[in-house]
Amino acid sequence: MSEWERARAKSGASGVGLRAPHELELMRDAGRIVCEVLDVLEEACAPGISTLELDRLAHDETLKRKAKPAFKGYLGFPCSLCASVNDEVVHGIPKKERVLKEGDLMKLDFGVSFKGWFGDSARTVPVGKVSADAMRVLQVTRESLRRGIAAARAGARIGDIGHAVQSYVEGQGCSVVTDLTGHGIGKKLHEEPRVPNTGRPNTGLLLEPGMTLAIEPMVNAGSAKVMELDDEWTIVTMDHALSAHFEHTIAVTDGEPEILTVASR
Ligand code: MG
Ligand code: MG
Repeated sequence: MSEWERARAKSGASGVGLRAPHELELMRDAGRIVCEVLDVLEEACAPGISTLELDRLAHDETLKRKAKPAFKGYLGFPCSLCASVNDEVVHGIPKKERVLKEGDLMKLDFGVSFKGWFGDSARTVPVGKVSADAMRVLQVTRESLRRGIAAARAGARIGDIGHAVQSYVEGQGCSVVTDLTGHGIGKKLHEEPRVPNTGRPNTGLLLEPGMTLAIEPMVNAGSAKVMELDDEWTIVTMDHALSAHFEHTIAVTDGEPEILTVASR
């Protein structure tokens, strides 16, 4: 059997990879490690720590668990952690001089590979006491992810996920970043399909049991418009309003979607 035929045999009608039970087991391991490292990082997010120190912690905690940081070197990204603060949406590069202070809204985005399988997750963490506006965009984003995941059921379509996220977020008076999307994940960090955070019900790819997706709403308190900084990585809101980000790697199943990036099951 050729490589192509092997890939095809493992894929659904869409050509998107479907995971066998033993593969899902490995993705659960990768996901558990991602969650454990994020737990350590979240705990460490306090005034006075630099984003470079958080990156070092992410790196060390990953190696301790016999996994590899997924982002380091990916398309040339220099670090293990994406660390984005306040109006930075995603892909912030950890820096020695970027020291967290009381009131910052911190986004930790982190992934690993373990035995060849990937996990990817993000969370937004308040540093000390944050403003009511910051807490609100955090909560809206977290709830939009919960709704997006709930929509990821076999027989539904990819547009149902985006619709669940978008309708909730916009109903709360926030905006959804559309320049970046979620993605399939498995043997690679980013695989087909794209998983937009906007969409119309019952449109797009049919979801099948065994699909593994990273769903990751990026939500702005102001306008949806974003731009890239001169470092060619960091994405910031155009109006410099606050942004939040949550992400889980999930598996589509015959029943409830399964979140893979969790600590215990
Ligand atoms: Mg991520
Ligand atoms: Mg991702």
